[in-house]
Amino acid sequence: MRLPISGLEVSFRLPNGHDDLALLEGGARESRNNRADLRSSEAQAATLECAIDALSRLAELRHASGESSGAAIKMSAWLTLTITDFESALLGLRAFLFGDTVRCVLRCACTERMEIDFSITHLLSEARPGMPGRVQPCATRPGWFELNQKDHQAGDWTIFRLPTVADQLFALRSPKPYELLAERCIDSGRPTRRATASAERAMESMSPTVSCPIHGVCAACGAALNRQLHVPSLVLDELRASAASMHDEVHAIAATYHWEESAILAMPQVRRLAYSDAIRQAGSR
Ligand SMILES: [Zn+2]
Repeated sequence: MRLPISGLEVSFRLPNGHDDLALLEGGARESRNNRADLRSSEAQAATLECAIDALSRLAELRHASGESSGAAIKMSAWLTLTITDFESALLGLRAFLFGDTVRCVLRCACTERMEIDFSITHLLSEARPGMPGRVQPCATRPGWFELNQKDHQAGDWTIFRLPTVADQLFALRSPKPYELLAERCIDSGRPTRRATASAERAMESMSPTVSCPIHGVCAACGAALNRQLHVPSLVLDELRASAASMHDEVHAIAATYHWEESAILAMPQVRRLAYSDAIRQAGSR
């Protein structure tokens, strides 16, 4: 797939046992460290780090043009992506592994349980970036943009850049995340609230939110239901669920065939599953 903002190409691969172990152990660490409050910003930062690790294992970033830099880009490159590109890549991985349709479970206050499906292709098509007319790339600072204000001479100018995954990580670990993001990404001659707000509006249309709320209506009582989608958590939860029985699978294969743990971990997840299914079926005969 091609990422909407950077134009970089991403390709994906199936997980093996080493990836599954890293995902499960990352998840265990995440919940141990954040037992007090799973919704705290520190917990979100830990989730983001696990998602970076998952992508750097299972996805590869390349320049779209066939130049010699067609070689894979390093892991740290994920940190330099915008949040829009990063979450698009995560959803691309999710679609590659489990398909385009995502099922969300919502629970109403009246206790009714509802399932809502959404399509990844559709969600990504809603988050297409666009450049507002008053914005142009900054000639003197690569990667920054200029927002045209009425009176440039009188200090009425604003330049900004799009927040990256690294900015998001810093912000989540700061006591004042919004102020920190604005400080890092917005530079203004006259740093008024209005200048910041118009830069933020431009940033939102150039790097739209992928993690949007999912809406539904309760079939039993008609109440409106909303759930905030959080793409990194969604994708990590599914990856971990598909890896959850790996210790049992490795145990069954090692006990039956006496293969080394390293050889079993190197297998793609699908092959490990196929062997452990065969062992289970032979045992139940
Ligand atoms: Zn209801």
